[in-house]
Amino acid sequence: MPIRPNEVVLGSLLGSCSAHGKLELGERLLQELVQMDPHNTEYHILLSNMYALAGKREKANSLRHVLKKMGIRKNPGMSSIHIGGQVHRFSAGDKSHPRTQEIYIMLDEMIRRLRLAGYVPNTAFQVFSGCGSGEDNANEQEEKELALFSHSEKLAICFGLISTKAGVPLYIFKNLRICQDCHSAIKIVSEIYSREIVIRDRNRFHCFKQGSCSCSDYW
Ligand SMILES: [Zn+2]
Ligand SMILES: [Zn+2]
Repeated sequence: MPIRPNEVVLGSLLGSCSAHGKLELGERLLQELVQMDPHNTEYHILLSNMYALAGKREKANSLRHVLKKMGIRKNPGMSSIHIGGQVHRFSAGDKSHPRTQEIYIMLDEMIRRLRLAGYVPNTAFQVFSGCGSGEDNANEQEEKELALFSHSEKLAICFGLISTKAGVPLYIFKNLRICQDCHSAIKIVSEIYSREIVIRDRNRFHCFKQGSCSCSDYW
């Protein structure tokens, strides 16, 4: 690049490293990113999950300890959707919206249809928030899946689907980087519900349409 890459560029590159399992490059990028934005925990979490996926549990845990020592807390992820002249905000597992019941009924239905279409929940990226004992029993697996299902962007989409007419595009804003599982789920949602879904996350725009995303899975 003719100019020094900024945080957004390096963050996207780290995301690509994660998609391709490039650990060494990821480690180098994290060092640079920490200097640029010492208070951002997203990148530590991303790299920690990469270690965990590669079976390097010790390294994953040590990174987690670094975060704990620094007293950094994970930023809560929030998704907003603009409907009927109002902004509706959701956090993960949110049950505060007046239409919560309908939203969760829609979510159940959506997950059922996603599974029929071949969706498999990607709980590998949840390692960091899990207890880290490494012993995955059926219950723990189920808990991880449930936590994934109620990510804020999934809730915002369900609300969008029940509040708008068929075919109307949904526009969502997410304050953090969209997770791998939501990204692959939303691709399928755009296909099975024939909806264009545009999400602006911390790094970029994602335009989901007919089963794929404009970012071609690089973000
Ligand atoms: Zn997610
Ligand atoms: Zn995308």
